[in-house]
Amino acid sequence: MTESLIPAIAAELRGAGLRVTAARAALLETVREGDHLGVEAIAAGVRDRVGHVSLQAVYDALHALTAAGLIRRIEPADSPARFEGRVGDNHHHVVCRSCGVVADVDCAVGEAPCLTASDDRGFSIDEAEVVYWGICPSCATAEVPDRQQ
Ligand SMILES: [Zn+2]
Ligand SMILES: [Zn+2]
Repeated sequence: MTESLIPAIAAELRGAGLRVTAARAALLETVREGDHLGVEAIAAGVRDRVGHVSLQAVYDALHALTAAGLIRRIEPADSPARFEGRVGDNHHHVVCRSCGVVADVDCAVGEAPCLTASDDRGFSIDEAEVVYWGICPSCATAEVPDRQQ
C-alpha cells in the first residue's frame, strides 16, 4: 500500500511522529501543491492520487498533520477552513470579501509574533494572526455594480 509513496514525504511523516499511510502522504502533497484549499478540494486531490478515501479519513488526516505542524489550518471569519503547506513563518492572509480567495501576506518583520501588542496583559505572546480583508483584483475589475445580498 505504501509502495507508490514518495520516499521524502514518507520520511517527513515518520519524522513528525506520524504513522505513514498512502492517504496521509497524498494529503500532504495535495495541500502543498494547492493554494489554501478547502476540505472538499483536498479530498478530491487525495482521491485522484490514491483512489477512494472517506471524508472522515480526510478530516482525521488533516487533524493529524495539522497537530504535527506539517500543514497549517486557517479559518477566516465566516469561511470554511482552508489548509496550506507553508508553515512555521507566521505569515498572514488577505481575503477577498467578494469571492473568498485567499492570498499570503508576508509577516511585517519576518518573524513571529510580528506585531507587538500595545498591552500584553502579562501573556508571553508567540504568535500574531492577522487577516486583511478587501476586494481581490479580479473582483475589482469585474465591475459588479452591486454586491449580491
Ligand atoms: Zn475576489
Ligand atoms: Zn498562507
